[in-house]
Amino acid sequence: MPIQGSANQFVCDLVAYEPGKPVEETARELGLRPEEIIKLASNENPLGPSPRAKEAMRAAIEEGQLYPDGGGWKLRHAVAGRHDLEIQNVVLGNGSNEIIELLCHCFLNRETSLIAAEHAFVVYKLMATLFGANYVEVPDPGFVHDLDAMAEAITAETRLVFIANPNNPTGTLVGESQIDRFMEKVPDHVVVVFDEAYHEFLEDAPDTVRYVREGRNVCVMRTFSKAQGLAALRIGYGLASASVADLLNRARQPFNANAIAQAGALAALHDDEHVARTVDNNNEGLLFLQKAFEERGLRYVPSVANFVLVEVGDGDAVFSAMLSRGVIVRAMRGYKLPGWVRISIGTPSQNKRCLEVLDEVLISA
Ligand SMILES: *Cc1c(COP(=O)(O)O)cnc(C)c1O
Repeated sequence: MPIQGSANQFVCDLVAYEPGKPVEETARELGLRPEEIIKLASNENPLGPSPRAKEAMRAAIEEGQLYPDGGGWKLRHAVAGRHDLEIQNVVLGNGSNEIIELLCHCFLNRETSLIAAEHAFVVYKLMATLFGANYVEVPDPGFVHDLDAMAEAITAETRLVFIANPNNPTGTLVGESQIDRFMEKVPDHVVVVFDEAYHEFLEDAPDTVRYVREGRNVCVMRTFSKAQGLAALRIGYGLASASVADLLNRARQPFNANAIAQAGALAALHDDEHVARTVDNNNEGLLFLQKAFEERGLRYVPSVANFVLVEVGDGDAVFSAMLSRGVIVRAMRGYKLPGWVRISIGTPSQNKRCLEVLDEVLISA
């Protein structure tokens, strides 16, 4: 009997997450040097890690024989302070992706459901499937979360509602007044999750941490992977009411956040200069690419994050043709958007090169 017969059916049903294509692999396949490849596929920081984080991580390596502080005291304390919360409100994760998984561990099973928007971050669906729960997808006209419809979709079985704000891959935001109206309608048996991985890029961010302070059943997720440039380290956190945070802390592994990552994140948390530089570079790049799309008559979704979704005809073909010219973007078939690609904002020279390659590819298509 094939071993699949012994496995959980919902694991067999799972379609594995497809990450952005790595630089090393692409270089090998094309016979190029890694420095010749431009990766604009995973919304990483084109300016690199926070310099303060790099210094702190180098120092932390010297104590590499020791297990990390499993309670993450220093980092949680600093994060709590930054948000005017208590340490009991902070849960560290191996990337904020782990916080998603911990929420599912705590609240999902075959009798329950998770609600998310039609073009929401794909990991929610993967996790719901992995836990055998029902995944309820709510249409998002114009690629914007429809919070009224999401509130109406809540039933007695609903345990989690995910609001990615701004959402990936659409780059769209829902505002504070819509969120407040939504929160008035959410019953107590539901945890609302605000996935705010791109929070630092926003000019006028809705205040959702207020709901944590008010003791509502919410979890606000943030990450060091994007604006702070620490994606390799896998560190993020959830801010939640003490009762929700306590559940999440029971579900995690004792040393889920490694010591190098904790040291880097603690330093990055105070590196406002690096974030400011990153945001300036991003604003400039977004403007440049979106203006170029407009001039070419390409449809795109105006973004507030560090990436932009653009309609190119055949997304898989454009992805492959750009890849063969050394520029990695992301095809969107997995999001049921086969005509689109998602491009992360790079440095000015990377953006320029990306556009040149896109032009070559679209002309020869
Ligand atoms: C990038 C991203 C994350 C962050 O993932 P990490 O595990 O912290 O690296 C979370 N949510 C969304 C929507 C993202 O795009």
